[in-house]
Amino acid sequence: EIVPEKIDYVFKVVVIGDSAVGKTQILSRFTKNEFCFDSKSTIGVEFQTRTVTTKSKVVKAQIWDTAGQERYRAVTSAYYRGALGAMVVYDITKRQSFDHVARWVEELRAHADNSIVIMLIGNKADLVDLRAVPTEDAVEFAEDQGLFFAETSALSGDNVDKAFFKLLEEIYGGI
Ligand code: GDP
Ligand code: MG
Repeated sequence: EIVPEKIDYVFKVVVIGDSAVGKTQILSRFTKNEFCFDSKSTIGVEFQTRTVTTKSKVVKAQIWDTAGQERYRAVTSAYYRGALGAMVVYDITKRQSFDHVARWVEELRAHADNSIVIMLIGNKADLVDLRAVPTEDAVEFAEDQGLFFAETSALSGDNVDKAFFKLLEEIYGGI
């Protein structure tokens, strides 16, 4: 990665969603282009960064990962503080993780800034034979709630960069 001389913006992005949907892997795919097969569950709130150039601006994305706090209402308001963007992740093979998305969006609306840009992410799109959430259900929910939407695979890397770039561009467009 080229270290830029100057960073125009630092954007804090939070990643939320049920446990085991692939949040940590999405983050590691985006920031390190890695997928870790024997990853342990995350301990302690952490963030990772990646600096990208988009719309001719150098943007440092500071992406926060929940740390085994995925129980309902366990994520503290400090986690959301200053966040300009959010990814709400579910697993396309786990219907329950999609059913819980509404709660996560509620949490965001309660704790984050009103102007936060939210992207709904259906992860594990590589597991086509195990799909339990039709794309149309997610599209409908996203339209209803005014969220952006993408299906990704942290495993193959499919759409991960694209989703983050879209989120960062939308944040930039709003400031
Ligand atoms: P988190 O609890 O939401 O942070 O989930 P993790 O990132 O720890 O991933 C949970 C499990 O799902 C791990 O066994 C990962 O290897 C697996 N996983 C994550 N992303 C994908 C993906 O895109 N495809 C597949 N097939 N497995 C994934
Ligand atoms: Mg994790």
